Amino acid sequence: DTVIAIDGVAKQYKRDGRSTTALRDVSLSVSSGEFVTVVGPSGCGKTTLLRLVSGLESPTDGDITVAGKPVQGPDPNRGTVFQEYHLFPWLTVRENVAFGLVEQGVPAAERQERVQELLYVIGLSDFADAYPKELSGGMKQRVGLARALAVDPDILLLDEPFGSVDMQTRRQLQRELLEIWRGTDKTVLFVTHDIEEAVALSDRIVIMSGTPGRVRATVSVAESRPRN
Ligand code: ADP
Ligand code: ADP
Repeated sequence: DTVIAIDGVAKQYKRDGRSTTALRDVSLSVSSGEFVTVVGPSGCGKTTLLRLVSGLESPTDGDITVAGKPVQGPDPNRGTVFQEYHLFPWLTVRENVAFGLVEQGVPAAERQERVQELLYVIGLSDFADAYPKELSGGMKQRVGLARALAVDPDILLLDEPFGSVDMQTRRQLQRELLEIWRGTDKTVLFVTHDIEEAVALSDRIVIMSGTPGRVRATVSVAESRPRN
């Protein structure tokens, strides 16, 4: 069944009297539990597409529904990680990861347990009380991922979440993400300009290009990976 349905979507930005059409007639659907990656050159509207699905922007035309409901603003059930970490610099690693749980009113003891577990998964238990500025790029990206995962979202929207790390760290983070995804039934919409990363991770690859960006092809990754 379809979890994310994008139907005939266009997006036009207007700024200083100039307008840019970032997307035109984009349609795409993602099934429950599927890992779909959108690839394409810089400027083809990948980030815009993810911002629309996350509810940070509204489409100029067309419809986007998630779990059957039109997207209206951000929702923690769509865990979102953007390329820049967007960690809160005044909060520790522990507090950053706990943020969504505090908002949801999860009791302190349960919160602590959940955060502890996630810090272990991302290998940063020893950095719970550190501040973002004390962390490397790769560590910050892991914290961003942990913060999105904390509220156990059904859907993960990931925009180049491993964008600013070296190749070795990138491959490691990819493995960690796959491990997390295999252990759950989460639906993932992932954006990257790295074809190799797309092939390594996804069930299906959506290729976009142009300005305005359009979907040019959709490719199933033949070798399906084992799932728990
Ligand atoms: P990608 O993620 O594939 O690099 P983007 O979605 O960031 O593509 O950008 C698509 C197009 O929309 C580009 O031409 C970009 O300059 C433009 N754009 C993106 N965000 C804005 C914005 N907030 N205001 C105006 N134009 C924007
Ligand atoms: P980047 O490539 O962005 O610098 P890395 O994740 O590769 O980020 O980390 C860079 C530095 O941080 C390395 O010296 C690495 O040993 C250290 N580091 C990363 N993760 C951990 C961790 N879980 N515990 C201790 N040190 C870490």
